[in-house]
Amino acid sequence: MKNAAALLLSLFLCSVALAQKAKPAAPASGDWRTPTEISDYRTTPRYDETMAYVRRVAAAAPKQVKVTSFGKTGEGRDLIAVIVSRDGVFEPAALHRANRPIVLIQNAIHAGEMDGKDSCLALLRDMAITKSQAKLLDRAVVVMIPIYNADGHERFGPYNRINQNGPEEMGWRTQARNLNLNRDYMKADAPETRAFLRLFQAWLPDFFVDNHVTDGADYQYDTTYAIDYGTDVDPVLAQWIREQLKPYIEKSVSATGHVIGEYVGVGEANPGRGLVVGQDAPRFSTGYMILQNRPGFLVEMHMLKDYKTRVTGNYELLRALLELINRDADSLLLMNRQADTATVLAGMRYGDAGQFPLRLKATEASVPFHFLGFKRVVELSEVSGALWTHFTQQPENILIPLHNELKATLSIAPPRAYIVPAQWTSVIDVLSAHGLKMLRTTAPWSGEVETYRCTAKWREQPYEGRHVLASGSEFDPGGGTSPLNCESVRETMTFPAGSAVIPLDQRAAKVAIHFLEPQGPDSAVAWGFFDAIFEQKEYGEGYVLEKLARDMMAKDPKLKQEFEQKVATDKEFAGNARARLNFFFRRSPWWDARLGLYPVGRLTSLQGLPLAQ
Ligand SMILES: [Zn+2]
Repeated sequence: MKNAAALLLSLFLCSVALAQKAKPAAPASGDWRTPTEISDYRTTPRYDETMAYVRRVAAAAPKQVKVTSFGKTGEGRDLIAVIVSRDGVFEPAALHRANRPIVLIQNAIHAGEMDGKDSCLALLRDMAITKSQAKLLDRAVVVMIPIYNADGHERFGPYNRINQNGPEEMGWRTQARNLNLNRDYMKADAPETRAFLRLFQAWLPDFFVDNHVTDGADYQYDTTYAIDYGTDVDPVLAQWIREQLKPYIEKSVSATGHVIGEYVGVGEANPGRGLVVGQDAPRFSTGYMILQNRPGFLVEMHMLKDYKTRVTGNYELLRALLELINRDADSLLLMNRQADTATVLAGMRYGDAGQFPLRLKATEASVPFHFLGFKRVVELSEVSGALWTHFTQQPENILIPLHNELKATLSIAPPRAYIVPAQWTSVIDVLSAHGLKMLRTTAPWSGEVETYRCTAKWREQPYEGRHVLASGSEFDPGGGTSPLNCESVRETMTFPAGSAVIPLDQRAAKVAIHFLEPQGPDSAVAWGFFDAIFEQKEYGEGYVLEKLARDMMAKDPKLKQEFEQKVATDKEFAGNARARLNFFFRRSPWWDARLGLYPVGRLTSLQGLPLAQ
């Protein structure tokens, strides 16, 4: 009996201990420390605890804070956005009318990288409860996504970030279908991306921040950031970023004791040879913002700094950004409006709107960059058998060349509109998810359009769950020219009723151009939406093609001569029986004229199209 009672008691105590571990005691009513502050920055709160904190703040400050759901994850969790406004105006239209800049801050797209979430909880409290940062809401309204990749966040564990120094446990990089949401902005495969795009369109923010933690080398900086101010960004905005934003945030964050610098993706290789900036392609959040004419700001906290340094550094960076956005609210709103108007006007002017850059690459030109590194030691490793770099904690401040001038390696002249045949439903669905305005044809239409004939090569391995073209590397998708070989052609094509016409005189036209121009780094073709157009579906039997070849040569001595010359000079061709027979098949009327023909039309005008009024 005694033993049984002891067992029961120990089971009871054990379950109490488990309950306590799973549910930390609620803080006292006046205690507004965030969960990570309570743990002295050892831990980061789970999804439920995070949302409990933001709801507690909203309940205490209902006039400043509103918690909403903007969709569901694959596993069914609510995607939560927290709106922070000084006077209880939470409606985007009213805020746009009142000329108040809307700042969208996204956290935990990579749910092992938690610094942004924990810094946002503190910032939320300081804007709405302690009011020590209430001035950040003078003009600006903040829309925070505490945990974007909520399913990845709940794949919680201590072994999710091998390169990272704390917190003790954290979430996982990808969402529940193992997709990296920060490669999904254009193809929009994930339910989280679809929800984000709806949120983005509903709010149309004036400034976007995406919080991350680095991988890569060790160096002195704890707080790094990147924002595109290259040739693909509106020149007035680029100037504001260079001359106002960069100096302001660097000075302001440095003054708090953090070491801030531009994020230039230093790997293990020696940075002394110089650093090269790549294209920010639209698969990434910040690259996508370029197409939406909005500044997209990337925060990369340094993975090896302790968690307290990182969370507080991220906090100071967000504070500084919001100070600047309040200060320069009018010019920011004006720049965004002007960029939108310029896009709409360019879309009206078919033929003289200039060239649109699809792929960019850094030039030889460079600027001097003060890099605050650590001394590296390179040794021969008996483990790998190769040289390995390890870092000392000895500062090494060097001046290195930074190649940050991007030049277009592939540009196109945009059409007046694109027409996508009705049967390409998944392509039309993605365009619609991006909020692009489209018209539908009411009857079949045949006419001459500009389009492309292409040949393609694919990667052997799947990438982000898709069968993608063999383009560049993941981080330099724009590198070099397109792996897709396309020739511009004019063809008479027939488009069924219900085909989607996307005119380019609209705010988000650059999204349509990038998705529908096949040679773009994140085009629908590049992501495998159009793979079937490259598949040969009818084959000639050998004995049929043998007869065809003989008949064609008998009728056309020049063709016979061309064939014989190719056999004599092209060894590979000569040794490939099928290629030799196909030489004739391709030149016969039996060949599929649509093989490799891009089915999307580029229209020079909307005249004559059967469109609903
Ligand atoms: Zn990341």
